This record gives sequence, C-alpha cells and structure tokens, in this order.
Amino acid sequence: MARYSGPVCKLCRREGMKLFLKGAKCTSNKCPFEKKGYAPGQHGRSRRIKMSEYSIQLREKQKVKRMYGLLENQFRLTFERAERSKGITGENLLKILEMRLDNTVYRLGLAPSRDAARQMVCHRHFVVNGRPVDIPSFQVKSNDVIRVRDKSRQMVMIHNAMKRVRDGKMVPWLELDKAQMQGTVLSVPNRQDIPVNVNENLIVELYSK
Ligand code: SF4
Repeated sequence: MARYSGPVCKLCRREGMKLFLKGAKCTSNKCPFEKKGYAPGQHGRSRRIKMSEYSIQLREKQKVKRMYGLLENQFRLTFERAERSKGITGENLLKILEMRLDNTVYRLGLAPSRDAARQMVCHRHFVVNGRPVDIPSFQVKSNDVIRVRDKSRQMVMIHNAMKRVRDGKMVPWLELDKAQMQGTVLSVPNRQDIPVNVNENLIVELYSK
C-alpha cells in the first residue's frame, strides 16, 4: 500500500507540533523541531497567514492523520466507522485509532515509532491471544494479550525499544510485562487516557461540511 515516504520531520514543522514520528530522535536534542519550529519552505519563517475556519479544521485533521500514519482514504473510512459507533464521534475516532494493533505495539514500547510498529506487525512479529496477526489496523479489545513471537524475540529493534520502557502501565489502558515481552489491554481508553493534544471536534466539523 502507498505510504508517505518523504522527510517526516517536515510534517511536524508543517503542523507546528511534534508528531513523534522518528522514535528516539523525537525525545533527544537532535529533534529538528526544537531548533526549527517554523514551517518548512522558503517563506516558512516569515509566513503569517490568518487562517480561515476551514484551514484550522483541515490542519487538525492532518495532524491526527499524520500522527497515526494513515492515508486520506483510510482516515475517512475510520471516521465513518466512528460516526456509526455509539457515543461522541470525535472521541470514537481517537479510540479506534488508539486501538489499532500498530498503535498498541507502539504505546507498549515494543517498537520505537508507529511506523516501525506497522512494519513489524506486517512482518508477523506479534501474536494476539496466541494467534499471529499481520494487519496493522486490527482492532484490539479489552483483555487481549499482545506478545512478541518466540522467533522474533532476539530482534535488535525490539530489544532497543524495550531498553527505554519500564514495566507496568505506559498508558492507563495498557500494561506491559517486559520479562514476557507481552502487553495486556486493560480497557477501552477514555479520551483523557489518550495523550494526543488535538481538538477532535474540529475534525468532526470538517467532515460535516
Ligand atoms: Fe517530529 Fe520526531 Fe522529527 Fe522531532 S524528530 S521533528 S518530533 S519526527
């Protein structure tokens, strides 16, 4: 499937916030956003455009889409699914995105970034409740157990990622057992349990036009 393969740090600068797309580099002093927090391009530093209501809503959607690494069509389908679900559409959208298998692997600290997590899922390095799953958009549920496959336990990328995490709860709805290289989904996350600094209502407004 087609993917954005350009320089991802430019996406953070374009959106004016850190999207955490590069793993360890994002929390180090090598993060370009720390030095060049302005938009990319020749006029990025000087551009001061008054944003219309539409562009504010569009930017909010782009932030979420880029953060979770989805293409436009995938994002639209996810939104439609959120709309059909019971509850508040904006919160449903974030919950569906959070409970994707690739995001869960990333949140557990088993992969340095969502992009790496997606690739590792596609290469069948994880089992969910004992069964191999290679679909990054697979939705995990409460009490699901995500484990690194036995033959993948020696992977350098997983070991390096795990050096940076602690046992226990990375986010309130997930629990990691480092020794077993597995994580458990404790519950469906509430909005306040999702550490994503966006206004999801603006995305709902955008798609309601
Ligand atoms: Fe964004 Fe990470 Fe690049 Fe910093 S290092 S600009 S947070 S992708």
